[in-house]
Formats: sequence, structure tokens, C-alpha cells
Amino acid sequence: MYRKNAWLKYQNTKEVMDFAEGYKNFITISKTERLAVKEAEKLLKANGFKKIDDVKTLKEGDRVYFINKKKNVAAFIIGKEPLTKGLRILGAHIDSPRLDLKEHPVYEAKGFALGDTHYYGGIKKYQWTTIPLSLIGVVCKKDGSVVEVNIGEDPKDPVVGITDLLIHLSADQMAKTLAKAIEGESLDITLGSMPLNEEDKEPVKANVLKLLKDKYGIEEEDLVSAEIEIVPAGPARDYGLDRSMIAGYGHDDRSCAYTSLMALLDTKKVQYTACCILVDKEEIGSVGATGAHSLFFENAIAKLAALMNSNNPLWDARMALENSKMLSSDVSAGYDPLYGSVSDVKNVAYLGEGIVFNKYTGSRGKSGSNDSMPEYYAFVRNAMDQANVNWQNAELGKVDQGGGGTIAYILGNYNMSVIDAGIAVLNMHAPMEIVSKVDVYEAYLGYKVFLIA
Ligand code: MN
Ligand code: MN
Repeated sequence: MYRKNAWLKYQNTKEVMDFAEGYKNFITISKTERLAVKEAEKLLKANGFKKIDDVKTLKEGDRVYFINKKKNVAAFIIGKEPLTKGLRILGAHIDSPRLDLKEHPVYEAKGFALGDTHYYGGIKKYQWTTIPLSLIGVVCKKDGSVVEVNIGEDPKDPVVGITDLLIHLSADQMAKTLAKAIEGESLDITLGSMPLNEEDKEPVKANVLKLLKDKYGIEEEDLVSAEIEIVPAGPARDYGLDRSMIAGYGHDDRSCAYTSLMALLDTKKVQYTACCILVDKEEIGSVGATGAHSLFFENAIAKLAALMNSNNPLWDARMALENSKMLSSDVSAGYDPLYGSVSDVKNVAYLGEGIVFNKYTGSRGKSGSNDSMPEYYAFVRNAMDQANVNWQNAELGKVDQGGGGTIAYILGNYNMSVIDAGIAVLNMHAPMEIVSKVDVYEAYLGYKVFLIA
């Protein structure tokens, strides 16, 4: 059928490999939502996009972007057709599973200073122990200043980590299930072990807090209003002797975020207004002001309508959304030969076979899924075939094995046509996820084709 290994399409793989270098750089420097937004804004500016606040009116061909609370981006190329005829939307999320520092995190125990964490998103806890971790985020002070913290990414920086029991004393632990062997409250990071001379009460903790004060000018109490994310340290790297894959943190879903954004940046003229949105909080239900459920996106479309002299921007925004076509750019589970039994081999994504379409996601009988209209699916696969983009279909796994969701159903609530389209990932939600370089490239090509379909 349509399934083909995408590598075989390329006589010369240079374009695939070169694109992967740009992507590796992006995920290496964008390990939090805020950093992803910063990097996206840099790329948008370099490609002629203007911040919406600097724009008075809009016309065909204009390139503009919105940033919401430093954590979402919505970027647009204004089309030839009126906005109410609908947009072509690529939507990805830029949050990834991780550990967050608690509000009151630092404590001392038997000569160690430790940091208490609360995990974010679905993780297998045992995977996050005994690996080097970085602390990245912001501390917001009462005077309104926002201090950026980034420890662990510069090779000269120290790293932190979570200890695990030595095998020699693990008899009790090894008898537990994987879900119980490492508990959420045991995911505390080691921050230091050196006492501050003059302190006798909690001298190690005092020393760590002094270091933070000296470097960042922050007090312990300032950590209450902070957002420090604990993420795997170090750069994304080539994976496999043939360098066909990339090992890195946050492929879910920054691989789709980067390819969607690049597809928009590399598009010139469009019939229908083209859009890329990057959202936060997908891993915890797309909730809150910066998640896909937020009115931010609808308001942004209304603002576009207002800048095009609409008499009723809110209504026009509604019509624009209803008539839109969207690819929900999110990753899919790649087939892993070591764990093949969880997949239906006819309906699973294979690394190297191109952009993955998921007609539906969900669990326990498609619950929570968008379940795309087949008419729309036909439109999308036709667009891919016309442009010779390698694509494949998939479900997450076997029907009773579990499930997952994306932002597709949320945008579907506007009555627009939506289907999930993304990149196959191995080790999804682990500190080191794997994607194929050729899938990253085919996704980019597929997204680009879609914007002008
Ligand atoms: Mn995802
Ligand atoms: Mn996820």
C-alpha cells in the first residue's frame, strides 16, 4: 500500500541530515516552554514576521505573530481568501514531561541539601533516576523582576540528579512493581553536600541558598513564585551507527513544533490564511491560560479580523475557525521490536515511514478522541500523495493496552476539520526519546504541503 521507507526516496540524504541539525539545535536550547517561545520568536523575526502589537492593518501576504504570556505562539501568513473562509492551521505543544521544583523545595538531610519535586505529565518515575539533570526556569521576585535560571546546560556547569538504591541493597525494592519501586516523593534532586562554615543549623542547605543568592540574587522565599523545571542535561545527539535517528529530550512534542513552525516560515504565498500555534500544558490536559483550551487563540483570530476592518470580529473569528482545516501536530508511538506485543502491526507507526496520521487517539474505546471525518482524511492524504510525501497511518497501540490524547479534540470543538499528524517516537515521555531524521523531514514537508492545500 502507501507504506514505504522514506530513506529510499533520497538518492542524497544531505537535505534530510541538514534539516536534522537545525532541529537538534532547537531542542537542545528549548528545553522549557519559555525557551521554545523565545527561540520561535527569534526564528519568526528572522523570517519577516512582525509582532501583532506593531501592526495597524492587515492585508494579503502579511506575516504576523502573537505571544501569550511567554508560553504560547500563534503565527500567521495572511491569505488571499477572506479570513471567514477558514485557515490552514498547524498546532503543536511545546511542554514536555519533566519534574518541577515544589514551592518550598530545599531541605537538608544528613549532610545533603535536596530539592523536592512534583512531576509534570505522565512519566515512568524510575527512568528519571541516576541521569544528569539541569535546572531551567524563572524566579519571580516581589519587585516584579524575573530572574532566569539555567544550571546544567553549559558543559562547564554542574548538574543535579536523583539517586537510586545500589543493587546490593535492593532486595525489597526489586520485589516491588515498576509503578511502586520509585515513588513520586522520592524524586528529590541532590543539590549539594558542602556545609557553610559559620552555619550550624542546616549548613549544607545554607550553602546552596548562598550560592543561589550570589549567582541570581534570590532568597529562599522567592522560590515560592518560581517555575524551575528539572530536565535531562546535555544536547540532542545522533543515534545509531548510521546517524539515522536523534536521541534527545522533548521530541514530544517539540519535533512537531519545530517542523510546523519551519513549514510556516518557509511558506511564501497562501490562498487561505496559514497559521502555526504552539501551546503549553498539553501534558496535563491543555488547561489554563496558556493551554489549548484557552480563549487566547480565538481572541487572536478576532484581532486579525479587527485589523482587517471586520464589522464583527468575534463572529468572523468563529466562522474562520469553523471553516478551518487543521493538522494537530503531535507525536505518535513508534513500533519498538523489543515490545512489539503492544502494537497492532497493521496500524502502528514505523520509524522511517514518514509523517503519521492518527484518525483517532483516546483510550478505552476512543474515549477523549477527535476521531477525524473520513472525508477530511481523504483530503489530507491526497495532498500528501500529490506532493510525494511519505505518510503512514497509526493507532497508539493495541485497543486494550492504554491510550493517550492530543489537542485535536479541543480545536475540533470549533467545528473545524482536524486530524492528528506527527512524528513517530520511541521511548515516549522518557528522558531520552528517539525519532528518525527522515520522519522529521517528511513531517516538515507534509506540513508545508498542507498549508497550501
Ligand atoms: Mn504530545
Ligand atoms: Mn506527551
